[in-house]
Amino acid sequence: LVVLTDVNKHFGELHVLRDINLTVHSGEVVVVIGPSGSGKSTLCRTVNRLEPIDNGTITIDGQPLPEEGRGLARLRSDVGMVFQSFNLFSHKTVLENVTLGPVKVRKVNKSEAHETAIRLLERVGIADQADKYPAQLSGGQQQRVAIARALAMNPKVIMFDEPTSALDPEMVQEVLDVMTSLAREGMTMIVVTHEMGFARRAADRVVFMADGRIVEENTPDEFFTNPASERARDFLSKIL
Ligand code: ATP
Ligand code: MG
Repeated sequence: LVVLTDVNKHFGELHVLRDINLTVHSGEVVVVIGPSGSGKSTLCRTVNRLEPIDNGTITIDGQPLPEEGRGLARLRSDVGMVFQSFNLFSHKTVLENVTLGPVKVRKVNKSEAHETAIRLLERVGIADQADKYPAQLSGGQQQRVAIARALAMNPKVIMFDEPTSALDPEMVQEVLDVMTSLAREGMTMIVVTHEMGFARRAADRVVFMADGRIVEENTPDEFFTNPASERARDFLSKIL
């Protein structure tokens, strides 16, 4: 579904993505881990062209990433994004946050978007907060709104970039629970996270990055019990 072939990217002199080859199949959950600065966020951002790449190709469902224009807007709506910092519209209610994209980009009519939004807010367990503003919610609730907002676009894949890193510890689990249930329901997901419990439970595959490269790719079982590379062993010894 998502195929990256020989993707390279520089920020000036800094070579942040080096010959990245990655295929994510439909329904697969891929967890990306690695040290700070290894290029995980950049990788996420290239998949919906928030960051341009120097060379290589990225295709979503067989379609190459368009450079710009309408094709790009459509493609972006196929790739959901959930960030560490929630990125909700602060002057819109929870419900409006979830209906805005479908109405503006997908051209869904308002009553249908409203119904879908309520259903999605129920699914993430916060339908009772629909008329509040983001600032009136806890971090965990805001992140669940962000997930509902991503789902509302009916994306083919959702990228999560450290979705629980900004949360107080007691709120981490409620967000991971929502993500775990999405994974079970067959959503295609690429998840950058330091939550190794989630990786073990929900991932079909773990991708370990270091210095802009994919160093190792394996099932969570293999990766955590028997990492092949020195870099991965070193990394795991620091975080586990
Ligand atoms: P972390 O775990 O800290 O989030 P990461 O693996 O997500 O790290 P990236 O954010 O992808 O790493 O960054 C990779 C490298 O690219 C880092 O050295 C970073 O400083 C650099 N970088 C990221 N964004 C930019 C930018 N817009 N301009 C210049 N350099 C950047
Ligand atoms: Mg990052």
